[in-house]
Amino acid sequence: MNLKTMNDTNLIAKTESLVREERVLLTTVLRHLHEINRRRLYSSMGYKSLFDFAVRHLGYPEDQAYRRIAAMKLIQEVPEIEKKMNAGEISLTHIGLAQSLFRQEKKMANEFSHEQKLSVFDQIANKPVREAERITLSLSSAPELAKPDRVNTVSENLVELKFTASIELRKKVESLKGLLAHQHPNLSLGELFEQLCDLGLSEWNPGKIAAPRKCRVTQKPSQAQILRGVFQRANTQCENCSSVYALEIDHVVPQAKGGNSEVENLRILCRSCNQRSAIKEFGAKKMEQYLN
Ligand SMILES: [Zn+2]
Repeated sequence: MNLKTMNDTNLIAKTESLVREERVLLTTVLRHLHEINRRRLYSSMGYKSLFDFAVRHLGYPEDQAYRRIAAMKLIQEVPEIEKKMNAGEISLTHIGLAQSLFRQEKKMANEFSHEQKLSVFDQIANKPVREAERITLSLSSAPELAKPDRVNTVSENLVELKFTASIELRKKVESLKGLLAHQHPNLSLGELFEQLCDLGLSEWNPGKIAAPRKCRVTQKPSQAQILRGVFQRANTQCENCSSVYALEIDHVVPQAKGGNSEVENLRILCRSCNQRSAIKEFGAKKMEQYLN
């Protein structure tokens, strides 16, 4: 159809109908993403997460992938919002605002009930983003904490990290700076944070080399030594997708099927790949209760 020859009335009507279809298409995509997630299918394809799959396989820009996955999860909790999305009453931006509020309140042990969540959506529906922002902020029990963490790119090698911290954290930072003052005077927050990260990475790395202990060579390795060896062999990353997030020890032959806990039967998988492997072994239905 040549748009240039379409009359004005038809052009508007057609555009309206396309936008309606576009909204329904979005919620349909979210349903599909949910099913892919339920099966942890992206793990089989070597992606580290549904987000990784949405960005690298489906080609969404990172922010769009993030917003879609956030909406996908929220629809599971509050199925009523799908209808509101299809009707154009709430957008992905509205959902993002509501979700930040729900997460913040949950952290503060003030989890919103289903009815409260629905009521938030009723209040922000059809509102411009600025007003929706003001409404969600007014519903927060600690509006000063409602600011999400931010990572801004400053240059190719530099980022700016922003987060809101408690006054207690501020005191801890000052104490730490004091402790390190002899070695590192005038430590910046970024330098201190980097030192802490290095410390955490070496301290909490499950594959870290333990101090040699005096033991007879004939002694069997302890379970801790076995696990450390498995982490070292895998270079402390998922052996399926190379993710370093939420790593777990997996039995190649499941214990339920007689698999042992010797080095040869152990491997490192991230949580998603481990869940995918369990789904393949035991079926999605049986695993449902263990998956979020
Ligand atoms: Zn993995």
